Parts: sequence; C-alpha cells; structure tokens
Amino acid sequence: MSRVYNFSAGPSMLPKEVLEKAQKEMVEYGAAGMSVMEMSHRSKDYEEIINSCEALVRELMHVPDNYKVLFLQGGGSSQFAMIPMNLGNKNKKCDIVITGQWAKKAAQEAERYITVNKIASSADKTFSYIPKLDKSTFSKDADYFYICLNNTIYGTKFNQLPDTGDVPLVADISSCIMSEELDVSKFGLLFAGAQKNLGPAGVTLVIVREDLIGNQMDICPTMFNYQIHADNGSMYNTPPTYGIYIMKLVLEWIKEQGGVAAVQKINEKKADILYSFLDSSKMFRGTVVPEDRSLMNVPFVTDDDDLNAKFIKEAKEAGFVNLKGHRTVGGMRASIYNAMPVEGVEALVAFMKKFEEENK
Ligand SMILES: *Cc1c(COP(=O)(O)O)cnc(C)c1O
Repeated sequence: MSRVYNFSAGPSMLPKEVLEKAQKEMVEYGAAGMSVMEMSHRSKDYEEIINSCEALVRELMHVPDNYKVLFLQGGGSSQFAMIPMNLGNKNKKCDIVITGQWAKKAAQEAERYITVNKIASSADKTFSYIPKLDKSTFSKDADYFYICLNNTIYGTKFNQLPDTGDVPLVADISSCIMSEELDVSKFGLLFAGAQKNLGPAGVTLVIVREDLIGNQMDICPTMFNYQIHADNGSMYNTPPTYGIYIMKLVLEWIKEQGGVAAVQKINEKKADILYSFLDSSKMFRGTVVPEDRSLMNVPFVTDDDDLNAKFIKEAKEAGFVNLKGHRTVGGMRASIYNAMPVEGVEALVAFMKKFEEENK
C-alpha cells in the first residue's frame, strides 16, 4: 500500500518530509540517546525544541512582541470556555457571528459564563455564506467580538474582517492557520487546534495580546488561566511535548516552502484548480457562494445522493480518501490544507472529470 491523497478535514495529512524526519529522529533524537517522547520537558534538548517552535510561530506569522504564544491542550473546544473566562470578565458580554457549528459551539459555551449577542447568522441557508455585518449592531461595551475565520464544515471564510474598533477581535483559525497571511495585530486573540494545518491532535496554539490576560474570573481553573501558562512559558505542567516537536518540524517545512506568503500562493492555485472545475462541471457544484469560499475546505455535491455515494466509493478505491462531506451538508468535501500538494488536487480533478464522463 502506498500513501493515498488524504482529503480529511482533521486530523489531516502532514507533509511527507516531516513524517520522514520524525521517523529518522524517532528512536534517538540528536545526541540525546532517547526519543523526544521520553525526554524531560525541562531538559536542555526539549527547551531548545519548544523555544524554536515558538520562534518559528513568531517569525512565520509576524507576531508582534506584545503578544504571548502559548502551547496548550484541550483542543480548540477548550478555548470556547477559556476565552470567556479570561477575556469576558469586565462587562461580561461578547458579540459573535454564527457561521456554523464551531461558532455555535463557542457561543453555547460562552453563554454559560457571559451574555452572548449573536450579531448575525447564516443558518437560514445551511451556513453557505458569511453574513453581511452592520457595524451599528455591534455592542460597544462587549469584552470581545468572536468569529470563526474559516468554517471547516461549511467551507466559508471571512474575506473581510469586521471593524470592531476598540473591541478586541477574537478568531478561531483552527482550519486556516498559516494557510495565508494574516495581520495578527488586528486581533486580540487567535487560536488553533493543531490537527488541521500544524501537526498532530493534542496541541492548541493560542496567540493573545498581553493586556488581555490576567483578568480571569475567580471560577477560572488554574489550567484554563492564560496568565498561568504565559508566566510559565507553557510549562506550568507537562506540555504535549511530542506534538510540539512535530509542529516545529511542520513550521520548518513551511519556512522551507518560502514562508506563509509562498504557501498562500500554492493554496490559491490549488483552490482555483478545484473551484474552476466545479464551476464548469455539469455534474458537480460547490455549495458556497463564490465570494465567501474557503481556501482550505471545499464542499461540493451532485444533485443525486446515490451518485455522491458512488463517487466517494470509487474515489476511495482510486486513492482519494476522506472525501465524504460532513453529515449536516451531505455530498463531498475536499480539505486541501497546506500539506496537500498541487498534484493531489490536479489528480482529484482529473478523477472527477473521468467520473463525470462515465456517469453522464
Ligand atoms: C476542528 C475545529 C475545532 C475543534 O477542535 P478540537 O481540537 O477538536 O476541539 C474548532 N474550530 C474549528 C474551526 C475547527 O475546524
């Protein structure tokens, strides 16, 4: 069996070069005489790994000096509670745009602690677009304004950031981190579970402006307190050591590609190949309005459920796996994260053309 083209939404494919390097270093890391998994997180060798991982995040995303970079656990989903507990303790109020399941879950969790104003929603059309926002509806006294920048399930992306003035903008960038350039200084807090674009599941990256931490609620557990993790360099307790090591390898790989700007160009090319085909096909069509399309997650359908099932089955046999769409959308979804090469998308489109020919 050879490696397949894996279009999974997450956990998702990693660059082969990264896996090979990890394999080489698996049993003995450098001169340590042991695997990274077996090391003390307080050892010199490990300190170097976590420090260079943080330095690479800062370099690749141009993170300003007044932001903390944290390596946490608990997945993206723990951030749904950590954010209100840490950032929502002034006026106990936030604004949120409901663009899909992840935003909905974030809102539901935040509602346990603070007042959540749902500014807009695209639920009326199965989240197939990003709602137009009217600034006059934003709460001026909100502690933060929350968006899910790229909606993994529905395949939409904010191509324009809401103008929130002095209210800190908080964004879930789990499925688009480092896929294209992002101006960190426009945000109060950014977070991403690693398993889409950065590494294995188990690490959550948080980038937060320093002045927003240290004002947590009294009920906030120690492990949910950003200040604790910031003061301890993400080493208050044992961090997810191996996941951080793999993330470092992925970041080195991004740097070798030419950095985020270079990766963005490749991602735009990949997305263009796929969307152009979907727009020209008589059998397949994308489900998202063109102006809000994601670069990373591309849901598409035919008008026939049986044909969808046949396509997914035959694609799998041909080495294109995990193309089944999310249960709430149906059809197919191709997640084309950073690690998916252009050739993978070209091969998928060639397969789709052939399928369309054969099933006219
Ligand atoms: C996958 C995903 C999450 C959930 O991440 P977990 O690490 O599984 O908790 C949250 N938000 C977005 C946008 C995602 O794609």
